[in-house]
Amino acid sequence: MDYINTPDPQKLSSLLNTLEQSHTLPLSGYEYLITHRSQETASILAEKAASLRRRIYGNTVYIRGLIEISNICKNNCLYCGIRKDNRECSRYRLTAEEILECCAEGYALGFRTFVLQSGEDPALTDEAMCSVIRQIKQRHPDCAITLSLGERSRSSYQRLFDAGADRYLLRHETANASHYRQLHPPDMSFDRRMQSLQDLRAIGYQTGCGFMVGSPYQTAATLAQDLKFIETFRPDMCGIGPFIPHKATPLRHMPAGDADLTCFLLSILRLIHPLTLLPSTTALGTIAPDGREKGILAGANVIMPNLSPCAVRKKYELYNNKLCSGAESAQGIDSLAQRMAAIGYEIVTDRGDAAAYENSRLQNIGYAQPK
Ligand code: SAM
Repeated sequence: MDYINTPDPQKLSSLLNTLEQSHTLPLSGYEYLITHRSQETASILAEKAASLRRRIYGNTVYIRGLIEISNICKNNCLYCGIRKDNRECSRYRLTAEEILECCAEGYALGFRTFVLQSGEDPALTDEAMCSVIRQIKQRHPDCAITLSLGERSRSSYQRLFDAGADRYLLRHETANASHYRQLHPPDMSFDRRMQSLQDLRAIGYQTGCGFMVGSPYQTAATLAQDLKFIETFRPDMCGIGPFIPHKATPLRHMPAGDADLTCFLLSILRLIHPLTLLPSTTALGTIAPDGREKGILAGANVIMPNLSPCAVRKKYELYNNKLCSGAESAQGIDSLAQRMAAIGYEIVTDRGDAAAYENSRLQNIGYAQPK
């Protein structure tokens, strides 16, 4: 009998209670939860996470309009469909005017946060990006701008922030340096990625990190390190979604990540950081037909429908069969609203800054700001 893998019910229950009450576990505690994951533990965690999230955010789900502004990338991440060496990828870059049109369309649909995401495209210079950011802010002063443009110098992050960008998403991908080296080519650096996150935070961005669930070579131990990193870094946002192989990458034969494990980790993250903005990602919606709903029910509270021009959506193919139509698209917001209503949630269009709650009901229920 494999007694090592038989969970001790008392230990499990004590870990769940500690996590709920203290919002922290030792590294070994996170690893134990992951190793001994079961349907039953997942349900208990989801219930705790959903009830906590309800106390803070009610039944609201924030929406962000995702604009994929360029799929040109100088990097060769081994998992990513838009990596430089993928010659099958048809490359594009939106003009400033096209980006502004996407924002105008999104604004009319009710979006008040725009997420500009891209590969690491050298043509997206500070000058070009600052100009776009200023124009978006001029036309839509009530909107937040989130950037997800990859690694840049600290002075570049500063210039974009000074131009008006509010938030920055940069997944750390893995908190384990050797694992990072297994997923990236030698010219990419774990230390530089971690430093970028520190720089973003120090500049004043609302900062988001995150990782792929089930990425090749990931283990319960590396996942526990991810959770510990997130616990200590205290991101304002945290994006996790299953790894899905892409046919034209070196990791094309690796198995995809698992929707249930993703939801399990979303629940843990909600309990670690009650206020964090947690998206139920497109990758989760791609891997399971009701993935978006499952993510919300597990504790996520953000959805980022696609607002990119229809003509380029298929070209931003990070992984096989990435969804970009129907309820995944900004234009399908009514269908998304219906799907959320069916599980008891309501999409809301405000910016959804955790900071907006600072002097409100959060304090009444005993939760202070995350930083
Ligand atoms: N270049 C920017 C960066 O590196 O942060 C933003 C774009 S990058 C494509 C956005 C995210 O997509 C990555 O952080 C990665 O976690 C995710 N991603 C890339 N390939 C993926 C895959 N095969 N499966 C799931 N997610 C993937």
